[in-house]
Amino acid sequence: MFHADPRFRTVIEPFRLKMVEPIHFPSRDERARALVDANYNLFNLYSELVTIDLLTDSGTGAMSTEQWAALLRGDESYAGATSFRKFERVVQELTGYPYVLPTHQGRAAEHLLFGHFGGPGKIIPNNSHFDTTRAHVEHTGAVATDLPTPLAADTQVEAAFKGDMDLKALEKLLTEKHEQIPVVCVTITNNAAGGQPVSMANLRAVRALCDRFKKPMFLDAARFAENAWFVRDREPGYSTMDVRQIAEDAFRLADGCWVSAKKDGLVNIGGFLAFKDESLLDPLRNGLILNEGFPTYGGLAGRDLEALAVGLTEVTDEDYLRYRARSVAWLGKGLEAGGMPVLKPFGGHAVYLDAKRLLPDWPADHFPAQALACALYLEGGVRGVEIGTLMFGKTDPATGVQSPAPRELVRLALPRRVYTQAHVDYVIEVGTWVARHKHELQPLKIVKESPALRHFTAHLAPR
Ligand SMILES: *Cc1c(COP(=O)(O)O)cnc(C)c1O
Repeated sequence: MFHADPRFRTVIEPFRLKMVEPIHFPSRDERARALVDANYNLFNLYSELVTIDLLTDSGTGAMSTEQWAALLRGDESYAGATSFRKFERVVQELTGYPYVLPTHQGRAAEHLLFGHFGGPGKIIPNNSHFDTTRAHVEHTGAVATDLPTPLAADTQVEAAFKGDMDLKALEKLLTEKHEQIPVVCVTITNNAAGGQPVSMANLRAVRALCDRFKKPMFLDAARFAENAWFVRDREPGYSTMDVRQIAEDAFRLADGCWVSAKKDGLVNIGGFLAFKDESLLDPLRNGLILNEGFPTYGGLAGRDLEALAVGLTEVTDEDYLRYRARSVAWLGKGLEAGGMPVLKPFGGHAVYLDAKRLLPDWPADHFPAQALACALYLEGGVRGVEIGTLMFGKTDPATGVQSPAPRELVRLALPRRVYTQAHVDYVIEVGTWVARHKHELQPLKIVKESPALRHFTAHLAPR
C-alpha cells in the first residue's frame, strides 16, 4: 500500500504504461461536420473523431498485466470450465453469496432478475434506477420507483452520502404497497444521482426494513469498490477499515446482487448475478441458459471470466481507488474553478456538469445538457453524455410536448486506468472555454426517437 509522504502532495497514477494506443486529433471543422453527420447525438460519433472519450466508464478501462496474462489461461470448455470455478470462487468470497451466474453484461442480469421479479402490477423500489434497470423493469410491465434521499435533488449541498435511499419513503411504500413489491434494490454507487455513495448505515436501515416486511434486498453493485472507498473516506467508524472488508460487508447486508463488471470488474465485457436464496437458482439459471449460455460461461468466454476474476480482486487496491477518486475530484475542481457549474460532492466515476445552472433561461425542450455536451465535443473533441431531458424526459405522443427530467446534467465519466493528469487538465481547459462562451451554445430539438432508451438512437437538430 502507498503510504502518503507528507513532503509530496501529488497523487501519481499507480501504474506505468506498457502499451500505448494513439488518440486522434480531428480539426474543429471535422468535428463540426461529424456533429451534423451524427445528428447531434454523440453516441453516433465514430470513435476516431473523438480526442478524449468520457462517454462512459463502462467497459472502457485498461486491463492490467495480470489480467492480460490471465486471458491466456482461459479454459474454453463448454461445460465445467476451470475459469468459471476460479471466477465463481472470487465472487463467492467477495459477496458471500453461494449462487453465481455469469452474464455478458449488467443488463442481461437485469433481464433475468426482473423477468423473475417483475410483471404487471409489481413495483420495484430503488434509490435510483440506472437507465437500463428502469428499462428492464418497465419492459416487464412493472413500475420502477426511485426513492433517492431528498439531499440528492440539490446539486450543491456537500453531503457525504447523497446516494442513500430515502428510508421514510421506502417505509411508506412498503407499508402501503406491501403486496406489490417483490424485491427492494439499492444501487451502489448511485449512478443516476451522480455516482454518489450509499452509506453502510443506510444499507443497514434498508436491510432492517426488508426484514420487517420480509422482502429480499438486492444490490445493483456495478461500483461496489468506489462505494466502499467513499465509506472509508466519509462514514464515521470506517476510517481504519480495509476497503475490501467494507465491500464484503456491504454485500453481506443484502440477499443478492447483480453487477455490470464493465465498471468495477475492470474488464471490457462481463457481468454476473449472485444470490443466497436457492429457490431463485432454477428460474434464473433456466433464463440464463435460454438467453445467455450454459451456466459455467453465461454470456462470456472462459478468458473473460479469468480477466474478471483478477479485476474483481485488483479493484479494491487502495492505491488504485485513491488515484481514481483523486482524478475525478481534480477534474471537478478544475472545471468549477473555470466557471463550469458541477454537481457536488464529486462522485466516484464521473463529474456531472449542471447545464441548468450554466443556462438557467433555457427550457427543457431546448435540451440544454445535450447542447452543452455537443459544445464540449465541437470545441475540444471531448465526448461526454447527456443525463437530462434527452435521456429521461418523454415526448407526449399527442401534443409533442416534452416532459422534462428533474436535472439537466452532462456526465464526464473517466475510464479506469486510461487517462493521465495531462488528459484531465486538457478537459478542464476545454470546459472552461465552453463555460466562457456559453452564449454561443446552440439549442436543439428532437427530430426522431425510439420508445425505449431514446437517448442512444435519437436524432436531433438545431432549433
Ligand atoms: C452499467 C450499469 C448497468 C447496466 O450494465 P451494462 O453492463 O451496461 O449492461 C446497471 N446498473 C448500473 C448501476 C450500471 O452502472
